[in-house]
Amino acid sequence: MFYKSTRNSNIRITSAQAITQGISEDGGLFVPEKIPTISAEYIEELSTKNYIDRAISVLSLYLDDFTKEELEYCVNGAYGNNKFSSEKTAPVVTLPNGANILELWHGPTCAFKDMALQLLPYLMTTSAKKVGCDKKIIILVATSGDTGKAALDGFSDVENTGILVFYPEDGVSPMQKLQMTTQEGNNVGVSAIVGNFDDAQTGVKNIFGNREYAEKLAENGMMFSSANSINWGRLVPQIVYYISAYCDLVADSKIKNGDKINVVVPTGNFGNILAAFYAKEMGLPINKLICASNINNVLTDFLTTGTYDKNRKFHTTISPSMDILISSNLERLLYHLSGQNDETVKGLMSELSTNGKYTVSDELLSKVKAVFEAGYCDDIGTKETIKKYFDAYNYLCDTHTSVAVNVYDMYREKTKDNTPTVIASTANPYKFSQSVLEALVDTPESTDEFSMVEELHKVSGAVCPPQLADLKGKTPRFTQSCKKEEMWQTVCDMLFMHKG
Ligand SMILES: *Cc1c(COP(=O)(O)O)cnc(C)c1O
Repeated sequence: MFYKSTRNSNIRITSAQAITQGISEDGGLFVPEKIPTISAEYIEELSTKNYIDRAISVLSLYLDDFTKEELEYCVNGAYGNNKFSSEKTAPVVTLPNGANILELWHGPTCAFKDMALQLLPYLMTTSAKKVGCDKKIIILVATSGDTGKAALDGFSDVENTGILVFYPEDGVSPMQKLQMTTQEGNNVGVSAIVGNFDDAQTGVKNIFGNREYAEKLAENGMMFSSANSINWGRLVPQIVYYISAYCDLVADSKIKNGDKINVVVPTGNFGNILAAFYAKEMGLPINKLICASNINNVLTDFLTTGTYDKNRKFHTTISPSMDILISSNLERLLYHLSGQNDETVKGLMSELSTNGKYTVSDELLSKVKAVFEAGYCDDIGTKETIKKYFDAYNYLCDTHTSVAVNVYDMYREKTKDNTPTVIASTANPYKFSQSVLEALVDTPESTDEFSMVEELHKVSGAVCPPQLADLKGKTPRFTQSCKKEEMWQTVCDMLFMHKG
């Protein structure tokens, strides 16, 4: 199995090389040359296994340059040792209306990002060894809130790595901020930036693409890599849980093996839903992939009209991890659906960077529409849905999951499509206590974060995970903030000024 760049099909490298490097030199993303396929027999057999064995099996199809022992080491390190609070790692909860909620937030930082970011450090250090890389890998992250903490937790004190995280100053929840700024470990750094997530992501991409900076790191025995979902090693672990969810539904006789399902994903950078697309391309019986957005609905527009236009107002919402106007992973979808046409992708991406928009051909749009449905809701709809599902089913969603549930309800009403559906649930509600509480009660009594946590517990009965409750009273280690033009300087300060 080899990987190509979406912008240059002549580049052909192994998965270990793709994971170590993160992003291609031409700015493209690494994609599998050929998507492996699975059969009904394969699913039948996987249905009898636990999450760890399912993960080893699925990953071996994509990372075929890894030995079985290497994969076992990586996967056990990521998901073993009770690192996830659910025995099933990613359990499926079926509600009375038939919605199957795939809970992806039982990991150490309570967001779905853990599913990939607990595994990525293992994949990356193993990959670096395999390709003979002796440099210290510096992970540079732009985060809309959850990636930052999940990456910090995954890479903290991992030998021969360092990690630096930039988050938008006013774009993350108090709990998310506290999670990041209190991170322990000798190889970690965190800085706010004055700007939004797209500013942070653009800044990080610019640093990655700068030769001079790369040389400066090389002189110091270091190299950059990425833990954002532009890295293939971030994406591939996410394919596993869609296959695993299907296996659970089969094992619990909720569907018959071979039955089609729909999948709804609350989407920002298009990574999570793209993993579901890979699962579908592999042969997992998926009917529709339903892309749910908040009011930053650039993807809803693209998936319905074929025009991607980021020239619009950026909205700060109560689902901040989806406040994104440039969804990087769409590039991978365009590559696959255009018949692996690197020239097409290169053209579209250069239009995006010069004009902020592009329109795909009718042919490409019809391929997109054959697979994807899309919808969005605003903050009011998000809160209404949290209340609706809590009142009806005593099930508490976080704000991101609620966007997906809202879009699912709208889709079902509009189409009368009763295909069994898996809804990706991406965060624990206590990461967004204020908004979730406001959804349930008209006028919350509490004003500070941790009294809200208590009030939410009183009102809902849901238990706050200890790793969030324990942040109460912790003093932040990282309090700095920089302008977006100062990101490289901040990187230098963190890497070269202090030891660590
Ligand atoms: C990151 C994130 C998303 C968006 O996922 P993408 O892969 O970027 O589309 C949705 N919900 C939560 C809670 C997240 O942390």
